[in-house]
Amino acid sequence: MTRPLLHLHSHHHGSGSSLTTGRRDGEALVALAGNPNSGKTTIFNQLTGSHQKVGNWGGVTVERRDGWVKSNGRLLRIVDLPGMYSLSAVSPDEEVARDFIVHGFGAEGRPDIVVQVVDGGRLERSLLLTVQLIEQELPLVLVLNMFDEVRRRNLLIDPKRLSEQLGIPVVPTVGNRGEGIRQLVETLADRLDDSRDGALHIAFDDATEATLAGIRQLCADTGRPIGRGYAIGLLTREPSAPRGIDAGLMKRIEAEIERRQPRIGRTFTEAVTHTRYTAISKLLAESVSSTADHREGLTARIDRVMLDPWLGIPIFLALMFGLFQLTFTVGAVPMDWIDGLMSGLGEMVKGGVPGLWGEVLGDGIIGGAGMILVFLPNILILMMGIHLFEDSGYMARAAFLMDRLMRLMGLHGKAFIPLLMGFGCNVPALMASRTLESRRDRLLTMLLTPFMSCSARLPVYVIVTAAFFPRTGGTIIFTLYLAGLMAALLLGRLFSRTLLKGQSAPFVMELPPYRWPTGRTTWNLLRFNTKMFLRRIGTLVAAFAVLIWFLSNFPRAAVAPDPVEDGVETAYAESTYIYRMAGWAEPVFEPLGFTLKMDIALISGFVAKEIVVATMGVLMTGDSEAEEATLVQALQREVPSPAAALAFLVFVLLYTPCLTTVVTLQREARAWQWTAFSVAYQTGVAYLAAWGTLVVARGLGMG
Ligand code: GDP
Ligand code: MG
Repeated sequence: MTRPLLHLHSHHHGSGSSLTTGRRDGEALVALAGNPNSGKTTIFNQLTGSHQKVGNWGGVTVERRDGWVKSNGRLLRIVDLPGMYSLSAVSPDEEVARDFIVHGFGAEGRPDIVVQVVDGGRLERSLLLTVQLIEQELPLVLVLNMFDEVRRRNLLIDPKRLSEQLGIPVVPTVGNRGEGIRQLVETLADRLDDSRDGALHIAFDDATEATLAGIRQLCADTGRPIGRGYAIGLLTREPSAPRGIDAGLMKRIEAEIERRQPRIGRTFTEAVTHTRYTAISKLLAESVSSTADHREGLTARIDRVMLDPWLGIPIFLALMFGLFQLTFTVGAVPMDWIDGLMSGLGEMVKGGVPGLWGEVLGDGIIGGAGMILVFLPNILILMMGIHLFEDSGYMARAAFLMDRLMRLMGLHGKAFIPLLMGFGCNVPALMASRTLESRRDRLLTMLLTPFMSCSARLPVYVIVTAAFFPRTGGTIIFTLYLAGLMAALLLGRLFSRTLLKGQSAPFVMELPPYRWPTGRTTWNLLRFNTKMFLRRIGTLVAAFAVLIWFLSNFPRAAVAPDPVEDGVETAYAESTYIYRMAGWAEPVFEPLGFTLKMDIALISGFVAKEIVVATMGVLMTGDSEAEEATLVQALQREVPSPAAALAFLVFVLLYTPCLTTVVTLQREARAWQWTAFSVAYQTGVAYLAAWGTLVVARGLGMG
């Protein structure tokens, strides 16, 4: 029998033995695997009721995430894995997924069930992984997601037929609407109780099968039995296969492969690939037939405009510009109310609650941390805009458009995705650089990502432009975002020619079809981000506001009222703790045109950018001389000139975003030299650029 054959094959798995330590009692481990962008995170959220980030491109999920669901009295632990196209993983995030399935994770062991989430509209791209997962001999359930698209495009996929052919359960779902989720949970419970496995068995040619048997025998003889999937991995020399196999055994396996390798004809790897693909085309021919494909056509037509070599980039910029204008103008309306409300509330509390507590509450918490609340509308508008770009599939196009420019700058095209994600928050953006295959590309991307202006920096821009540039605020903010991107690209070019020489790996990324963003995912995103935002203000920012308040008001004894009108301010400042701690900064930032209060805001902003506005709120408002001043009015009084205000914005844009990014960078790069370098050079760049801005702005007559 030399012809590759396809037939059904049954065998029994020992039951019960797979539950090991590292999990809760009786808990079953369910892994969600599949191509990027197939809807794994959406399904995960539906199953577990959490709100992880979804996006219409690859690389959004870069670490495994766990959640729980109960079914038939059993506790299922669901693990959302990063996307992968096959088990022959190359990039580190694919490796996370692969290793978990093939080798298991520590004491947890391998998953009890693997759920492969498939984009129903692109079934043909998913079946290689299906075949490989079946070879792993773990119970497998196929989720045929995006079934709404399958229907809309009139693709005729018969889930029942597919299930019969594959010998595994197939559940059609529409993830973002929750259709089919209940059935999926039931299927999982059934599959756990029923240990029989009738999965499709793909038999290779005789020589290949004999070699597989030989490899498994060798391993079993040395007391380390392996499964069929693992043996195939060894045979085809998958990069991360030889885990837990010592050098001596590996040598004998190599010799076995060498000995059995047919002298003429295909290599084993070619034979395996060929057999798999033959099986896949047979599967497709039998369970899928397509009559018409309107959707692909529409996507192609939209892309003819969006990806036009001349129009593409201007359209991208125009969309971004529109978003920032919207952020500024619409966000400015509630801003005035909340700003007024907070300063009024602060005064009221100070009047109502006597003594020190009134001051802590009124000046520290409400006047400091409360100030940040003002910006919730702006942040939500920006986040929603970016989310809509992502969810519709447009962001992947933007990355594609930027590939040429990125390459010119020595960067990898895929690096544009972490960069764009940075507009939301730099921390997940740093982690998203894992989708890049080479360490050089990853490091380079991580060094540049912090220049992307995250949403925590937005409040500073909004409040400062509201004080000094009320009419051109939207344009200035857009320019700042663009300047951050430009800084990243230019420094990328510099680094790629000096510190990190080398070529970028080629660009391979799939452009997903355009989709209507759903109200539900958008609503979830807004709710989730509002919650996170409020929590941050309630904890970290409030704590810092109180700290800054304390440091700037004590020791009290020294703050004796000074009869000399002009002397009050200096006598007050120089005696306080904060002056003793931060006084050194005054001469350092003097050339940039900043005052000490601005310096302190910047220094505290190293911890997180929300704190910049909170610190300014504490230090600049609530002074006895200017009773009911809002922060906007206070800034107009405290910041020396519009030129200094601009320089301040540029500094905020470019210096280290927050402590969390530093920690994340260290964790990702695992080299403190790079982490230290990143902080140092960003601060240096920020300083120089702010100084340049001041000089130019002064030259333009802005103070
Ligand atoms: P992952 O990369 O596999 O985790 O995919 P995500 O869960 O991030 O989903 C990718 C995109 O597909 C998101 O924009 C989802 O809102 C969208 N999506 C998920 N499931 C469906 C579905 O069944 N139908 C449609 N039309 N879109 C879906
Ligand atoms: Mg995901």
